[in-house]
Amino acid sequence: MMPATPDNPADRAPPATASTPAALLRASPLPPLEARILLTHVLGWRHTQLITRSDEALDSASVERYLTLQARRVAGEPVAQLVGAREFFGLDFEVTPDVLIPRPETELLVETALAAMENIARPRVLDLGTGTGAIAVALASTRPDARVWALDRSAEALAVATRNAARLLEAKRPGGTVSLGQSDWYDSLEPALCFDLIVSNPPYIASGDPHLSEGDLRFEPRGALTDEADGLSAIRAIVAGAPARLAAHGALWIEHGYDQAQAVRALLSAQGFTQVRSERDLAGIERITGGRLGGEAPACPEYPAERSQ
Ligand code: GLN
Repeated sequence: MMPATPDNPADRAPPATASTPAALLRASPLPPLEARILLTHVLGWRHTQLITRSDEALDSASVERYLTLQARRVAGEPVAQLVGAREFFGLDFEVTPDVLIPRPETELLVETALAAMENIARPRVLDLGTGTGAIAVALASTRPDARVWALDRSAEALAVATRNAARLLEAKRPGGTVSLGQSDWYDSLEPALCFDLIVSNPPYIASGDPHLSEGDLRFEPRGALTDEADGLSAIRAIVAGAPARLAAHGALWIEHGYDQAQAVRALLSAQGFTQVRSERDLAGIERITGGRLGGEAPACPEYPAERSQ
């Protein structure tokens, strides 16, 4: 690139061609895919239209909006927050700064949860710390007969999850709507409810972990990322409370950090879970751990009264 000099007029004003998609993308400092996501968002176009309409002159308001988003991305804001959405399990979730951005590795938790409830008709499912609602909505969408409860202690997150559930699920799905509630883990959950499956992607990053001040994590809610302790305190609470909430042979699956699998397996075994195992994500990292409740489960009503037909 030519060095910019103040007395070269070409460096002061952007060239006229900078107002076409091709020129904006060519001039962008962002990775090409990110630039394309931001530009299609601003224009309301499909990605293919960036090719078929690449030399079209764009109005200055669109160019301005794109350049503003590009600058915010250069300053570190996550793409998902800039466009207000992220795809997860084939569904388009609304994302705001109040929720964790759904991660591809969490699809492993959804896949494994689906397998765990494969042979159960009308399974009762609980998602703890639902955030966007990604896990709960993906499960509910794939299993229309499942009755799904999703809790979060953050009212702001629940508002996002409520909108995602309403937009992404059939209004008349056989399992009913996802029941969303404000609760710190099990604390405010109705005493009568119990489940065939409990899932969670809790905050599992230790308080001093340098990742918290890197990349997208700087812009995500801290309470969704870290327990402000050793990284295992949320998982301990979820495991400890699970037996009282699971039906006989009910399953619990939890996402965790790259180095926590062994500790989580030990917590589950100590709590009386059987068939305890971890699963690796696409990067080969043991990313989720789960098991089934062994021994005698407390009495668990077949269906909570208010959800029976
Ligand atoms: N997987 C996320 C990350 O490390 C953390 C998510 C979480 O704490 N549940 O970027």
